[in-house]
Amino acid sequence: MKRLETEVLKRDLLKVAGKLGVSSVTAVLYGEHGAFTIRPFVRAFGSWNRALEACGLRVKFKGYIRRVRKVDLRMRYMVLKRDKYKCVLCGRSPAKDASVELHVDHIVPFSKGGLCVMENLQTLCEMCNFGKSDDC
Ligand SMILES: [Zn+2]
Repeated sequence: MKRLETEVLKRDLLKVAGKLGVSSVTAVLYGEHGAFTIRPFVRAFGSWNRALEACGLRVKFKGYIRRVRKVDLRMRYMVLKRDKYKCVLCGRSPAKDASVELHVDHIVPFSKGGLCVMENLQTLCEMCNFGKSDDC
């Protein structure tokens, strides 16, 4: 295995992870978004999980993949709870100001391939989300 090829594979895997806004990529997801097949990764690294490790990505894909655009209520609740019911940008919260409305927003927009997974969602207030068209 040539060193160069390994680097090319790693770079593309990281590119896919960045594009999807996730810290782990399943072999199936990579197959849909990556430039290569899974085979060269297995050949170069021994297994898909080893390839993830080599890239500093997480081996386990946390959360389930939502193909639908809408964030369901359970997911919304989990995101709000994780972000402590505050806007992650300005910290405003409806607990302190009743006029604040919180939105669950895609960090990497759905239209750009971002997934409806916990790590690609964030809590924003209406003000911070204003002007963004890819909110849920
Ligand atoms: Zn805000």
